Amino acid sequence: MTSPTAAGDSNKGKSLAYKDKSKPADVRTSNINAAKAVCDAIRTSLGPRGMDKMIQTGNGEVTITNDGATILKQINVIHPAAKMLVELSRAQDIEAGDGTTTVVVVAGALLDAAEKLLQRGIHPTAISDSFQRAAALAVEILNEISTPIDITNRDLLIKCASTSLNSKVVSQQSSLLGPLAVDAVLKIVEPGHEKACNLSDIKVIKQLGGTVEDTQLIDGIVFPQRSANVSGPKRIEKAKIGFIQFCISPPKTDMDHNVVVTDYAAMDRVLKEERAYILNIVKQIKKAGCNVLLVQKSILRDAVSELALHFLDKIKCMVVKDIEREDVEFVCKSLGCRPIASLDHFVPENLVSADLVEEVGVGGSRMVKITGAQNAGRTITLLVRGSNKLVLAEAERSLHDALCVIRCLVRKKALIAGGGAPEIEVALKLAARANSLEGIDAICTRAYANALEIIPFTLAENAGLNPIQTVTELRTRHAKGETSAGINVRKGAITDILEENVVQPLLVSTSALSFSTETVRSILKIDDIVSIC
Ligand code: ADP
Ligand code: MG
Repeated sequence: MTSPTAAGDSNKGKSLAYKDKSKPADVRTSNINAAKAVCDAIRTSLGPRGMDKMIQTGNGEVTITNDGATILKQINVIHPAAKMLVELSRAQDIEAGDGTTTVVVVAGALLDAAEKLLQRGIHPTAISDSFQRAAALAVEILNEISTPIDITNRDLLIKCASTSLNSKVVSQQSSLLGPLAVDAVLKIVEPGHEKACNLSDIKVIKQLGGTVEDTQLIDGIVFPQRSANVSGPKRIEKAKIGFIQFCISPPKTDMDHNVVVTDYAAMDRVLKEERAYILNIVKQIKKAGCNVLLVQKSILRDAVSELALHFLDKIKCMVVKDIEREDVEFVCKSLGCRPIASLDHFVPENLVSADLVEEVGVGGSRMVKITGAQNAGRTITLLVRGSNKLVLAEAERSLHDALCVIRCLVRKKALIAGGGAPEIEVALKLAARANSLEGIDAICTRAYANALEIIPFTLAENAGLNPIQTVTELRTRHAKGETSAGINVRKGAITDILEENVVQPLLVSTSALSFSTETVRSILKIDDIVSIC
């Protein structure tokens, strides 16, 4: 550390080396160390032989996970620079969905490299600029070594989904979950509009009971609640469905107003009024020919009163109530309908037809399933099962990753090998290009290239192999032109990773590189932390 008097006097001195002022250097070191601590915490989770984490929150809730974004979201990070890594992992989760551990591990290695460059007296801005150029070059190289794919090739997509699932707690079931994820995404993708693929069109419903193997894809819509009827129908063929956003229950007074009823005659009148009010609505429902009523949840009162249910039972109309507000869009898209906001609009034209609506038993509970909707949009439901809450939650997260992998491939139709092969290839090519650069730029680019070797290094380490030996051998084989030589964690050796079907989307790797570089650059550029209380 430089003394305060000599601080920042780099221009006066003979040496051209940048000498940081002591405070900015302290801040930078503290930031880098805090961020590196986060990376170290999740490094052991990378890859198919990575460890899982058990996280216990303050209120005693336990999560078991292998997903980088989930681990970081749950742990309590206080240091502002460490928080940037949490954000980094979240950004990767949003952009690509997978590679959330990779992105943080790469950022850690880049920070380590940057720290060494700083110690050599290179100015943070120079490092930051060089890293940016190196990242652009790395992405270019990744593009060059990627293979374009055809998204109608279902087998290839399944291989990618399985690679993502293989590193999860539910890896045993990857042969079942992989095809499910592929079929789900292919169902929602509109040919010609692949870029618009939105995973919110896949509804994932968790149901405790059974095992992960019972997870299934339902071409239709499933409501996790049973039908509200007491004695009404539980199965309706050729259904006419109405989705309402108003309540079939007597209006309530608000907090400030009360209706005081003092005698029985008045009480009678109130009850009669209520009956007439509800009967009027039920009659209109019957007149429109509706036999399945979907009701949005109301926060103010019970959306369907006991009395209304009694009448609806009588006209043999099935009722599914308490449909959450956030599900409205999905329900409308699945059924091809619009919600009916008032009784005046409850007319036959606003109803939709479906082949079958039935209440089915899944695990220990019952749910309502609608299939064969006439105007069905491109949506699908995934019913995830698991024998306990922890496995169920992790199965859902893992499926999310697999769905994101397929979405990445649909958006950018290219893939690369896994198992550390692309990182070594990029590191070698980048180092070769650094030879044509000059001065600081060459040093920083070389450091960047070396930092990328952290992925194969960690994969080997987590698989119980000798990391240094493995990375050296990998480097030699890539230098000889074996571009797809990667770490085969199952055999504990280096083999052609494409033969092992370990493939991943290009987008996951490119976004991991650009995002981690971006974060490292911002951390390098911070020279002070000012807290305002
Ligand atoms: P992330 O959260 O970053 O996706 P993962 O734990 O899923 O982290 O690990 C991903 C890394 O593991 C990738 O670099 C991928 O190439 C590698 N990988 C996945 N499956 C295999 C496998 N069967 N053999 C070797 N490497 C694998
Ligand atoms: Mg993964």
